[in-house]
Amino acid sequence: MAGIESLGNIKTYRRLGIMGGTFDPIHFGHLVAAEEARVQYQLEHVVFMPTGRYEHKEACQYVSPEERFTMVVIATASNPYFSVSRLEVDRAGPSYTIDTIRAVSEACGTETELYFITGADAVLDVTSWRDYEKLADFCRFIAVTRPGYDLAHLRAIVSRGENAPQIDTIEVPALAISSTDLRNRVSEGRPIRYLMPDSVANYIHKSGLYR
Ligand code: NAP
Repeated sequence: MAGIESLGNIKTYRRLGIMGGTFDPIHFGHLVAAEEARVQYQLEHVVFMPTGRYEHKEACQYVSPEERFTMVVIATASNPYFSVSRLEVDRAGPSYTIDTIRAVSEACGTETELYFITGADAVLDVTSWRDYEKLADFCRFIAVTRPGYDLAHLRAIVSRGENAPQIDTIEVPALAISSTDLRNRVSEGRPIRYLMPDSVANYIHKSGLYR
């Protein structure tokens, strides 16, 4: 299956993290969150899964899926526990998490526990995601937040019944950094250094992204 082969010997993992996001662009908040989840949940590996296109967000995608994928590859290259999948980037239709999780689950086998890691704001809408009630059959959720984030809405989702996926939360101070702010900074000529790896900042400047 396209995008799965890049994940190495996936069948050997017992606990695998899937870090889902648009990463437009990736920043230190994402990287710290993935590393924190890896250590806290004893994940053997974390696969970054940049979104392809999804219909409801087409208008606010700033750079192509291919460029977002490239930035994630550059950002994660130095961590042997991280890899990046092309699964959603190469998918022809819209990106639905249930399709991704199903594909990874089939590739891993039933022995592997899957953890879907993403932003708490994104998880808040989980009840509107395609086949949301089936997600719980395949994975647990780790919702990453900045300190001070109001978790009441997330708790309400968790308590909504047996079909809701299990949602854990992790607080990461570096998530004060946001992709929206970074895009604004580039377009206004303000610095992005020290908010993301230098290699990604250089790629953005050289490619003229977000101007
Ligand atoms: P988003 O709406 O662009 O982001 C919402 C918030 O979450 C933003 O504050 C964002 O911060 C943060 N965030 C997103 N991904 C993050 C991550 N991996 N780590 C830390 N913070 C993160 O959300 P999105 O990126 O489009 O979607 C997130 C994930 O949910 C993706 O994997 C997507 O495929 C999935 N999703 C699935 C469905 C569906 O299946 N129907 C629908 C919606 C989303 P930054 O902007 O700084 O990243």
